[in-house]
Amino acid sequence: MTLVEIAGAGLAELTCARLLADRGHRVRLPPPRPSAPTVGADPRPLLLTGPTLELVGSLWGGGLIEDGWPITHRHARWGAGPSPAPFPQPGRVMDGVLLAARMRERLGAGDRSQEPPEWTVTATSGEQPVHERPVHEQPVHEQTGRRRLLAGIAPLRRRRDQDTARLDCTALGWLHLTPLGRGDCLVQAMVPGPAQAPAELLAGLLAESAFDALLRRPPRTAVALAAAPRVHLAPAVPPTLGSGGLLVVGAGALRYDPLSGTGTAQALRTAILAAAVIDAAATGRPATALCAHYTDRLRAAFREHLHTCLRLYTTAFGTGPWQDEIDATRAALRTGRQPLRALD
Ligand SMILES: Cc1cc2nc3c(=O)[nH]c(=O)nc-3n(C[C@H](O)[C@H](O)[C@H](O)COP(=O)(O)OP(=O)(O)OC[C@H]3O[C@@H](n4cnc5c(N)ncnc54)[C@H](O)[C@@H]3O)c2cc1C
Repeated sequence: MTLVEIAGAGLAELTCARLLADRGHRVRLPPPRPSAPTVGADPRPLLLTGPTLELVGSLWGGGLIEDGWPITHRHARWGAGPSPAPFPQPGRVMDGVLLAARMRERLGAGDRSQEPPEWTVTATSGEQPVHERPVHEQPVHEQTGRRRLLAGIAPLRRRRDQDTARLDCTALGWLHLTPLGRGDCLVQAMVPGPAQAPAELLAGLLAESAFDALLRRPPRTAVALAAAPRVHLAPAVPPTLGSGGLLVVGAGALRYDPLSGTGTAQALRTAILAAAVIDAAATGRPATALCAHYTDRLRAAFREHLHTCLRLYTTAFGTGPWQDEIDATRAALRTGRQPLRALD
């Protein structure tokens, strides 16, 4: 049995822990966080739909997300086209912090030994934010573009809008509205490049969009989060004599543009793959080849995602402010690191 250190309590790390424990490996876990929402806690609302819900259910069983806010429909207008009718798309809106706390509770105490682990699984990439990074330090990710996601919470005008997730576009970027229940919604807007004064920028975009009519007012505060796709350059390091192996999972390994709406599913897939690497290494398969395979799979998924981004962003924002992001995506597909070998 392999001893694995799980270095954090994110969705991908905990899912990897669960899979490893199920296969009989020893997992050392961070201490649990309370699953009851605490006053002042910073919620991370996630909209989970079809395949993501199925994946969470198949990996963890029931009881984790059923009390999330239910969404029944989706309404999506992409680019400058006309507004199509909403269509049925069931989903749940779940606080990612609460979900992770519930997963952690299910894992119990874990291994309590002081032995050095054979592997460490982490969702933290170890990269410093650009403004804190010493000039000589190389980035650990390949990143495509500089886009930012603005996010804030606002009250809906009508209760009947609480069951539909919406996507709309302005000339500067796309916007997403996720109902949260109790009359509130999360509004997000993707803009190309850095964003000063996020609340003002978000309010301006909302005023230009179809969401303006749905909200009682724009969010009072907003954050601007780095949201350009990126992939870790060395997400898997095999164990060597005297030091354990390392696997980076989740968004630390592979970050999708939130437009995909599949970030959580993707994070869980990295966890499945990382658990398979550790499990296969325990049966004697060479860890170096397994780590190369892990890296390749991530790069292949990243390139496929970039192709999707290129297709969507050129359709909706072919000229103007998005040109630099589109050019960066084309350049990454032309010159970025390719998977090293054929994937199975
Ligand atoms: C703004 C935004 C919106 C998104 N919306 C969606 C969505 O609607 N649907 C979807 O499927 N995906 C969405 N994603 C993607 C999704 O959040 C991530 O891909 C997925 O949750 C990553 O899981 P993870 O295990 O890598 O990270 P996380 O679960 O975020 O964990 C990463 C690390 O952060 C730590 N951590 C987590 N929460 C806290 C906290 N509160 N305090 C301190 N440390 C913490 C964990 O311990 C862990 O080590 C969104 C991403 C962003 C940035």
